[in-house]
Amino acid sequence: MEHYLDNAATTKPCAEAAAAVMSCISSHYGNPSSLHRKGLEAQHEVEYARNQVAGALGCKAQEIVFTSGATESTNLALCGAAAAYGRKRKKIITSAVEHASVRETMAHLETLGFTVVSVPPAEDGLYHAEDFLKEVDKDTCMVSIMLVNNENGYRMPVEEVFRTVKRRDSDIITHCDAVQGFLKVSFKPRTLCADLVSLSGHKVHALKGAGALYIRQGVRLKPVLYGSRQEKGLRPGTEGVPVIAAFGAAAEKLVLTMDERYDAVSGLRSSLIEQLKEMDGVIIRDLPSASPYVLNISLLGYRSEIVLHYLEQREVYISSGSACSKGASSGVLELFGAKPAEVDSALRISFCSDNTEEDIAALVQGLKDAQKDLMH
Ligand code: PLP
Repeated sequence: MEHYLDNAATTKPCAEAAAAVMSCISSHYGNPSSLHRKGLEAQHEVEYARNQVAGALGCKAQEIVFTSGATESTNLALCGAAAAYGRKRKKIITSAVEHASVRETMAHLETLGFTVVSVPPAEDGLYHAEDFLKEVDKDTCMVSIMLVNNENGYRMPVEEVFRTVKRRDSDIITHCDAVQGFLKVSFKPRTLCADLVSLSGHKVHALKGAGALYIRQGVRLKPVLYGSRQEKGLRPGTEGVPVIAAFGAAAEKLVLTMDERYDAVSGLRSSLIEQLKEMDGVIIRDLPSASPYVLNISLLGYRSEIVLHYLEQREVYISSGSACSKGASSGVLELFGAKPAEVDSALRISFCSDNTEEDIAALVQGLKDAQKDLMH
């Protein structure tokens, strides 16, 4: 039996997403730009999905632009806003623990003459709004902070920072990478005071190849891709209708069960933590205000990759650190205070509401056996 506990890397598509794909493949396969009925049917699929995603996010349909995934959304958000709003103001503030899609885009913006201030966690290992706010000045054009960290589930003080930033200077653009928060923890772009929000379909039981960028009405972005006029010219190219429809279907389904899923996943995470506390040699990073969907631990003395492949033989699937960095340390855990030996043995367990106590039991037994079977 499979025990999939790597839901922060990707999720299994839900039945509704699969049905939406099938309907687009088998009958609504036209090009949304075509003027005949087949084109209109496909266009309808895209607009229907836009309403579904907007409904799940709590915004207007016109504020959603579909992309190929969150990496593209973030590139469009950061580069597009820097080009539109960064002619005079050259300072961008972000956290030092962002996903590579933000970090690497920031590195690119530095080559274009922007100064990027990456704020690390404070001495207590946490983030406080003031750490960001003290950096905000007249030269600041943008602030970008993730909602939930993908490696340890830590919830950043996004709302507190963005609200004060906007109160001080409404011209500063605020972007949030909400990939690990969307349909998991409750938020709306307006209550976050976010101008731009990046989302990914495959993290919410839809498919790889679809994402979205929320663009608050009135915010202007310069495109980063050039071509035809799809997605108001911000994402030219024929729309991936099947994956967009799947994203809409999954979002519509998941938004109805946010609270139940949150409670179910919190219960599983607490149960795992209790069982891990009984073991020797396990460090549990149960940070305050963490999302219940992610837990980062270290099995001291055992390299992450070795444990990961050991567990894989039992069909228990987890990640070492962040799946996006393919085993290479992103430096995020170190910034949160982990020592090198803890980073080398770090494991990320990430849940969805399909998980059960059986999955937890299989994982815990696997970790106990790993401690016996694997050489240090
Ligand atoms: N941002 C965060 C926090 C993520 O966890 C990920 C994927 O792991 C991404 C962005 C990138 O998302 P996508 O795979 O849709 O490009």
